[in-house]
Amino acid sequence: MLFSGKGKRFIASVKKPSIMKKFCVCIITAITASSLIAGIIMYHYTTNYMTESKTQDVADAVYDVENLYSQMYTAYINNRNDKGEWVSSEGEQEYKKYYIGLLERLELYNRFLNVYGFITDSDGSIFLSYPLLPNMTGISETSGRTDFMKSDITDKLLLKNGKYYFKKDEQYYTGSASGYTVNNSDFYGLYKDEADNYLSVTKTIAYIYPGSDNPGNRGTITLSMPIPEITKTRSNIIGCFLIATAISVVIELIALFLITKEITDPIRELENMTKEMSEGNFNIKIEHRSNDEVGALIKSYNNMADALKRLDVMRNDFIAGISHELRTPMTSIGGFIDGILDGIIPPEKQEYYLKIVKDEITRMNSLVNDLLNMARLESGKVELDMLPCRLNELLSNTALKLEPIIDAKNISVEFDFAAKNCDVLIDKPSIERVIINLIQNAVKFTDAGGRITIRTALCGRDKDKDKIEITVEDTGIGIAEDEIPFIFEKFYKSDKSRGLDKKGTGLGLAIAKEILMAHGQDIRVESTLGVGSRFIFTLPIYRKD
Ligand code: ADP
Repeated sequence: MLFSGKGKRFIASVKKPSIMKKFCVCIITAITASSLIAGIIMYHYTTNYMTESKTQDVADAVYDVENLYSQMYTAYINNRNDKGEWVSSEGEQEYKKYYIGLLERLELYNRFLNVYGFITDSDGSIFLSYPLLPNMTGISETSGRTDFMKSDITDKLLLKNGKYYFKKDEQYYTGSASGYTVNNSDFYGLYKDEADNYLSVTKTIAYIYPGSDNPGNRGTITLSMPIPEITKTRSNIIGCFLIATAISVVIELIALFLITKEITDPIRELENMTKEMSEGNFNIKIEHRSNDEVGALIKSYNNMADALKRLDVMRNDFIAGISHELRTPMTSIGGFIDGILDGIIPPEKQEYYLKIVKDEITRMNSLVNDLLNMARLESGKVELDMLPCRLNELLSNTALKLEPIIDAKNISVEFDFAAKNCDVLIDKPSIERVIINLIQNAVKFTDAGGRITIRTALCGRDKDKDKIEITVEDTGIGIAEDEIPFIFEKFYKSDKSRGLDKKGTGLGLAIAKEILMAHGQDIRVESTLGVGSRFIFTLPIYRKD
């Protein structure tokens, strides 16, 4: 953002964006911490959920295989005689149909769940497996399946009399006919040489023999799924989470960069502006586009620059004015005294010139007094002697004191009092000063033949009224609307007033306001250019009770 000052163009200097850095560190730390916590929780729950859901899938498959096995075994029992021979070739075909069905199902689960399947007899000998064991070449030929179990797995089995056995009881003994057991490692050494661990679900085949009520142990079914199947799914989920986190970090950092820039750019400009102002350059303005807090701050700074600029101009005007005010009378005083001393002014005219000298000294004195009063009021060193005072009398007596200047301009003064008697609690000399200032101004800025009205009106919070409003109204030149906000400022003199008010210092209203503020009261102005002005101030009513 650019801003101008005294004809120069300033570009905000490039500095280390320390606020931005801090914000970035905070946000990155917050995001990392929250992502880490969310990641750990997610990892934990995903692992649990995946393990549970995969265990359930494998267990469902085990129950399904058990079901098929039972159908096959029932066909086996029903179609064999006591001698262990097939009673009919149809019976044998029926059995084989179930057998192949069972094999197909194991193959299916191998394809879709990636599981190894084992069906054992109750002595641990493996009746059927998929992939096939090396001794199952006959089944391979009849069924056309050629998937054989890896040798590092078959090596962990026991080969006895042409049959493969699980070596360990735990591998085919579950201890329960109904439930299943889950093993999450190498299935008691079977997958020891494999790169992955396996989730193995083992269930006793609970077969109910015809004519019996209780299930008998026909052996076990074990389906084993490599754990990477679980970790792969979990990794996919966590991978997605990490990608989403990374994207959100990038978006947040971009947003943060833009937002911080919105804040730090104006701050840097304000810093430059302050530097310029401290060097006495008040001609600076910062552009403000937003209406947020930063915009409000910039607005305040711009207003402050305006106010300081005005004060600076006023101070310069004032110094020039005061110098002029003092130099002019001092030059004439010096000239008159030189004239008297040199004898250029004859003795009979000396009294006349000495009176002028006295007037000039009185005026200089009142100017210096004004300045001192203002300084004292501003420093808060004035002690007010608050006493009850008759307001109507105070107003009319003060106006009376100014009769000479009022009469000189043939101005009429009207009084309009709200109450016959009204006591106010004030520091009388200073309030008298306020009234004098207001009436003097009214006279100064009202053409000859005009009218001044001094009015009082009750006002206050409740019907008892605790304040009284005093209005000094004139039919003078009025004050331009854009000048009204400044007339109570020190040394302010409107351009139009200069012609009429050459001797004014621009302190009268500022002093009046300071005095009223010290009383806890207010002053305001209502004015229309060319119609007149109305100065209204309040005073506290004094009640005896
Ligand atoms: P000064 O001591 O020079 O009169 P004031 O502080 O009393 O200064 O007034 C400040 C300015 O307010 C004046 O220069 C004038 O422009 C304006 N002003 C004050 N009173 C009136 C009035 N009654 N009518 C018009 N303008 C006024």
